[in-house]
Amino acid sequence: MKGVISLARFPAKAGSSRTEQRLMTGSYLAAERGVAIRAVQAACSITTNVFQHLVSSESITKQDKSPVTIGDFSAQAVVNEVLSRHFPDDGIVGEEDSADLQGEKGADLRSKVSHLVNDSLLHHGEIDSALSDQQLLQAIDLGSFPGGTSKRFWALDPIDGTKGFLRGGQYAVCLALLVEGRVELGVMGCPNLPLNSAQAKPADGEIRSKNIPGLGAMFIAVRGQGAYVRPIQGKDAQETPIHMRDLHADFSKAAFCESVEAGHSSLGTNARIAELLGIPKGNSVRMDSQAKYASIARGDGDIYLRLPVGDGSYEEKIWDHAAGAILVEEAGGIVSDIAGRPLDFRQGRTLRNNRGVIASESSMHSKLTQVVAQALQEEGRAKLLEPKTS
Ligand code: AMP
Ligand code: MG
Repeated sequence: MKGVISLARFPAKAGSSRTEQRLMTGSYLAAERGVAIRAVQAACSITTNVFQHLVSSESITKQDKSPVTIGDFSAQAVVNEVLSRHFPDDGIVGEEDSADLQGEKGADLRSKVSHLVNDSLLHHGEIDSALSDQQLLQAIDLGSFPGGTSKRFWALDPIDGTKGFLRGGQYAVCLALLVEGRVELGVMGCPNLPLNSAQAKPADGEIRSKNIPGLGAMFIAVRGQGAYVRPIQGKDAQETPIHMRDLHADFSKAAFCESVEAGHSSLGTNARIAELLGIPKGNSVRMDSQAKYASIARGDGDIYLRLPVGDGSYEEKIWDHAAGAILVEEAGGIVSDIAGRPLDFRQGRTLRNNRGVIASESSMHSKLTQVVAQALQEEGRAKLLEPKTS
């Protein structure tokens, strides 16, 4: 597996030889993989439901962020509840906390979230009786784990790409398992992404007005076992292996995946990098969320650049990258920060030792890293390449 290249830079800790043996048999993390799939399925059925009934509803104005809030809390509660029932000793680093759902002020939101969560968990056979409000809030707050290296923990973004979700574009439910601070399993549900790469992605908002068949892709990767895609729902749906495109480092054939939000990634620098590499203008797809990692992992595009805006002080969150990074690595790619260093998931809830992301097929990564450095130097931002110390 090419992804092991980047792993080699983080030496395995004592005890991992048993892990290596289990890697070979395919039993490694088999139970966790199955539970993570079920948790993401339950969360995706909630987010799809919320979109159909709240986001598309005439009564919600475009500026109203409440559907995404309801979806975020509900998806986090469902995933945390499923994980805690099966792996009660594991920590969870989740994006949300229950503060907005507490007390009198949170009663309305709490009641909506409670209905969605209990309906989904009962429907998916994860619980026999409904969770009380207290249990619901506890489930959400299981996401407060600080991360680090101490033991296994999960990283969860219940709705990654909230703007895409509201727009009727791309978003993703992203779940990863980290062992001693290293990502070992990733499961990503992308309800608005076509299962088949050949099918065009729906235009923003198209899913509001019509029912488009073929949407919904779940991506799964376990360290050393490759990356797969399958439909989101269904118990034993067929999994198909995915791979990055091998362009033999021919950048003229390459395509970029980049953020929609200019505030999240320096799109102007991306354009200059494309020019320096001879990537034709227009070979770029913009989409929200970690669906970018999944897209390049299956060869819809080849390069995902997330270059810091401004002074680079933003600390990327581990839940925004963990699931996506292992998908790309297991599909034959390399994921690093903008200076070519591995993403260091051992630092807590953020990637505070890294700036930005460069993800690409392996043969392109080193040239890409050089050109990123050149473009940042041209902009007078070479300081961003210096190591951060914790
Ligand atoms: P994307 O959909 O790739 O644009 O990324 C969405 C994610 O960007 C959200 O989940 C946020 O956590 C994250 N985000 C918010 N502000 C910033 C920022 N200034 N730089 C980079 N990422 C950010
Ligand atoms: Mg996110």
